[in-house]
Order: sequence, then C-alpha cells, then structure tokens
Amino acid sequence: MALRFYNTLTQELEVFHPLHDNTVRMYTCGPTVYNFVHIGNFRTFTFQDILRRWLRYRGYGLDHVMNVTDVDDKIIINAAKENKSIEDYTAGFTKAFFEDAAALRLEQPEHVAPATDHIGDMVKAIEELAAKGYTYDSEGSTYFRIAAFPDYGKLSHNDFSGIRAGARVDVDEYDKADARDFVLWKAKKGDEPSWPTPFGDGRPGWHIECSAMAMKYLGQTLDIHAGGVDLVFPHHENEIAQSESITGRPFSRFWLHSEHLHIESQKMSKSLGNFYTLRDLLEMGYQPEAIRYLLASVPYRKKLNFTFEGLKAAWRSIERLRDFELRLASTKLPSGCNEALSERSREAIRQFEAGMDDDLNTAEALAAIFEYVRAINTAIDENQFQEDNRWEAAKVLELFDSVFDVLKPSERPPASAENGSPASPLLADTQIEALIEERNQAKKSRNFKRADEIRAELQERDILLEDTKDGVRWKRK
Ligand code: AMP
Ligand code: ZN
Repeated sequence: MALRFYNTLTQELEVFHPLHDNTVRMYTCGPTVYNFVHIGNFRTFTFQDILRRWLRYRGYGLDHVMNVTDVDDKIIINAAKENKSIEDYTAGFTKAFFEDAAALRLEQPEHVAPATDHIGDMVKAIEELAAKGYTYDSEGSTYFRIAAFPDYGKLSHNDFSGIRAGARVDVDEYDKADARDFVLWKAKKGDEPSWPTPFGDGRPGWHIECSAMAMKYLGQTLDIHAGGVDLVFPHHENEIAQSESITGRPFSRFWLHSEHLHIESQKMSKSLGNFYTLRDLLEMGYQPEAIRYLLASVPYRKKLNFTFEGLKAAWRSIERLRDFELRLASTKLPSGCNEALSERSREAIRQFEAGMDDDLNTAEALAAIFEYVRAINTAIDENQFQEDNRWEAAKVLELFDSVFDVLKPSERPPASAENGSPASPLLADTQIEALIEERNQAKKSRNFKRADEIRAELQERDILLEDTKDGVRWKRK
C-alpha cells in the first residue's frame, strides 16, 4: 500500500509523493534556544527524525531545513538579565540542543539555519510583501494585513471573516480568538539588539523567519512542512499568508503536526514548569535509547502521557529486542531452511511497512516486530528455526532499527557521570543476573562484604533481591 500522511491542510489522509524528482523538500520549525529544550519538544523532533528515516526507507532523497530561533522576546529578556549579548546567550543552548539531539540519535537536517544568519532574506521578503500592498507601518513596526489574504484560516480551519480590520498584535504567540494583523518587523525598543533596514532599525517577527528561510533553501513550494500541533495557529497560518502572498503559489503541499507530550494530563511546557529535560532524565540514570523509544512508540498524532513506568517499559522493550538479537547471533541451529519461517519473516516486514506507511503508525509497526520476535523465539525453543533462517531474522531487525535506532547501546555516559554524582543506568536483565551470580560466588567464598555491596548496588537501581530456598529471585521495584 502506498505511503500516506494526514494532511492538516486538507484534513485527509493523502498518498504522498514528492513534487519534483525523488527528493523530499521538507521544512521543520526548530528550537527557540533560550533554555534547554524539554522532552516534550523532543517528542516533536523525534517524530521528525522518524519521518526522515521512513522517507529514506521508501527510497526518497531528503532536503530538509530546520531553523534555530536565536532572536526573540524571551532570548532578549534572558540575555539582558545575564548581561550577555544574544549571541553569547544562545550559543550554549544551541550547542546543548545538538548534543541532546545526538544523544537521542536524531539525524541532522541537511540545512540548519540560525535566524540571525538570515536577516537579509527576511528583510527582502518583507520588502516584497510591502511592494505588493500586504503591509502597513505603525509606530516604526511593520505589520501584515491579514484582510489582504482571503485564504487566511485555511490551515487551522477557522473562519476569520468577521475579524476587526486593523487590530494588531506584536507578540509572536497568541490564541485563535485573537487573530489580528501580525508583526513582520518590530521597531527597536531601548537598547535591544537590532538590525538597520530601509524601513527602520529593528528585528524580525518569528513568522517571517520561517517563510524566508524555507523558500530560500527549498523553493516556492515545499513537499512537507512539520511542527508541533501548537504551531498550526498562528505560526503556520501566518507562514502561509506571508509565503503565498509573495509567490502566489501553494507554500507547502503537506502539513504534518505532532501531538503534545503530556505529563499528568497537562501539556509539558516551560511556562507550566512541569517539564523534564533530556539531561534531567539521563542524570536519573535512564538511557537515551529508552527515551527515544518511548517518544517514538506512540503514533505522532496521539497524545503521549509521560510516566516513569512508561519509560521503564520502553527500556524493557529494548532489552527484549537486544536479547533476541543476541540469541539470534549466538544460538546453534540445525542446518537447512524452514520455508514457513522464511515466509513469517517476509510477513513481519510487510506488516512493519504497512504500519509505517499508514501515517507513521509506529504502534502497529512495533506490534508487528514484537509478534515476530515471540514467534521466532518459540520456533527456536521448538528447534524449528534453522541456520538459513538466521540471516532473514537479522534482516528484519536491521530494517526495524534503520528507523527506530535503539538496538546499539549508547556509548555516551549518562550526563551524571560527568557531573560527579554516581551514574545508575537501568540494568539489562542479563547484567542483573551476572551480578547475582557474582554475589552467589562471593557468598560461597565467604566474601560477605562484596555480596552486601552487590545487594546494595542493585537496591539503589530499584532491583530487589529475595533469597529463597530455590536460590535468589529478583524483581524491579
Ligand atoms: P519551541 O522551542 O517552543 O519553538 O518548540 C519547538 C518544538 O517543540 C515545536 O515544534 C513545538 O510545537 C514543540 N513542542 C512544544 N511543547 C511540546 C510538547 N509538550 N509536546 C510535543 N511537542 C512540543
Ligand atoms: Zn516555523
């Protein structure tokens, strides 16, 4: 079946092909680097990584641009508080963002575009809008006149026909009920950072940033534009208004929006203070692969409620797959090929692909893999699985991992190890059993100090030991 995406613009599942040749031209809104980004943001970036990898799996080339918003109200306020230039203030958070992204195995887009390197492109875009009569000035700032763009509202499916002409808004984020002429260029206030232009000193609004950079690198019409669902309005609606007013062409054919990560049923956000950064979770000892898996495992258009139980379950799922991979590589098998199991491997691939083609239904794709692992484990137990079936099963895992990328253990030590506090990564079942065996040996040789140390170490990692007459049993707390 063909690859389909849900398009926010048409509100339909549509078959996807790139417009030109075999390359997908894609733009995703990147981070605002005023702080460490949280794992809610990373849910959106992980979805975009899965999207990239699936497009590649389907044989497409990628031309993907992501912006980095390195000038905005929050950045200016925070930098001033710390007596820093905005460049100095944002440099550290930009670096941290890419370190975190690498820890989560997110591929780098083909172009990473910092806003402050593209002010000239934004100025040019505003001049084009002005020449076509879409703008007006007020107190040194330039605004987009939404009444001049009759399609305004087509992405968020709101009817804005009754809005008050001439009502303006200077902030970049606002509610649906508040549709108003938005700012393209903000007049300089006080000693804020600013750039000189023919229409006055100032700085760009957030929306023009993405229109100007997307079209600079990708041309007038993109194949895919993606972001979190909170960006549909006003940000993406405004991007459409600006870009299509300049070109007279559709700005993006597909619009993909990912739902939020929630925590205790509320959106995870900086302003609510209910967030974890990736660094927080690594310091607690969780592995980046477990976080990647958790973020990717729920289909992107469904809300994902973050819990530590869920994170631990994600780790156990990875362990199950790694154990299977190890078993595949190390089990002695009878020679020959079981045809029914060859067909079972092909079926697993078909089901995995069907799930991903269906608007990136990662839950279905994962279910196909776990059902397969269960079936093959049983076949190995029953001596049905044969030597020539081995590479077919390895191929299933390889295809799965080209998208999910969780099988290889992380080399990067948890952040806490760098900060001096003890690192306590989640242990694999096999590691726990090895420690228990070491403890048994220590007890046998009457090294009770070492035996107690091992019990304490396991306890610290939430693993409880119970000495029974049949030996040691363990469980996770
Ligand atoms: P920002 O740095 O605030 O511009 O956000 C970067 C990206 O993260 C945007 O695509 C947002 O839509 C997305 N985002 C913000 N909060 C969440 C959340 N709780 N869950 C998922 N995505 C989010
Ligand atoms: Zn954007």
